[in-house]
Amino acid sequence: MTAKIIDGRAVAKEVRDAVAADVAAMVADGKNPPGLATVLVGEDPASAVYVSMKHKACEKAGIKSIGHVLPITATQEEVEAMVKELNDDPEVHGILVQLPLPDGLDDESVLRTISIEKDVDGFHPLNIGRLAQKGREPLFVPATPDGVLYLLKNAGVELEGANAIVLGRSFIVGMPAALLLIKENATVTICHSRTKNLKEKCAEADVLIAAVGRAEMVKGDWIKPGAAVIDVGTNRVDDPSAKRGYRLTGDVDYEEALEVAGYLTPVPGGVGPMTIAMLLRNTVRAAKLANGN
Ligand code: NDP
Repeated sequence: MTAKIIDGRAVAKEVRDAVAADVAAMVADGKNPPGLATVLVGEDPASAVYVSMKHKACEKAGIKSIGHVLPITATQEEVEAMVKELNDDPEVHGILVQLPLPDGLDDESVLRTISIEKDVDGFHPLNIGRLAQKGREPLFVPATPDGVLYLLKNAGVELEGANAIVLGRSFIVGMPAALLLIKENATVTICHSRTKNLKEKCAEADVLIAAVGRAEMVKGDWIKPGAAVIDVGTNRVDDPSAKRGYRLTGDVDYEEALEVAGYLTPVPGGVGPMTIAMLLRNTVRAAKLANGN
């Protein structure tokens, strides 16, 4: 079997085009464009790159984005005061606090300060709590797991009644991905660093989501023939032949998985591009909520 490759770049482009069309319609209707405010604390280079990518994507979609940078010495009160100011700003529809925050800051308290109507990252405890409750819906879902589900549904993967394994239980990816799969009526097992017989468990999955951050950990014989495999992992592996001296690889051994899986996402070019696309979609949704629809 050769897996059907799920092209995250192409799907993300479709989502971004739809977002841009929505924004254009909103502006043509005399409304303000959606506004996304980002808050970056400190100068972590990786975080600064992620924030800059988000601003560029906003610009392309017609979304107004405003970047706020606080020094690494910023106090809890200063960070939360900035969030509160943005909560009160009618031109800001979505607020994104770039995680991780520097040591010493309480991220849960900061996330709780964001108005849930502007919580486009979906990390407010109330939005996560609603995600975990049957019959309740969060206003926003975290972008990466939202992108995972979008890719599965878009590829036509049957989720109802499927055995789904989620590798990883972080609050950013693994846990919300598992909660979303439960909402789709999949039967979900969450695995982590203490799970026993990981390979055997994975081999029973109709849907396998890998979000552990361990390069090529999932081998071909961990995969049930025909399974849908979504690789969230983004790992740097030394590669002297590459221009940058490294290459990016997922948590799944791509070449081996290709021979066994039914569907497979590549790294790069799978889940990665979906994350920003889903953030843009959430921002438009926040603007629509603010406009009363
Ligand atoms: P975390 O480090 O927060 O979580 C990793 C999870 O994997 C933990 O639950 C951990 O278990 C589990 N784990 C670690 N090692 C093993 C192992 N050997 N066997 C079984 N489980 C293990 O990572 P994130 O969730 O933030 O990210 C996961 C991956 O996804 C990373 O590669 C990251 O770069 C990537 N990522 C990609 C994004 C994208 O846009 N494409 C966005 C976000 C993340 P335990 O809880 O027991 O410690």
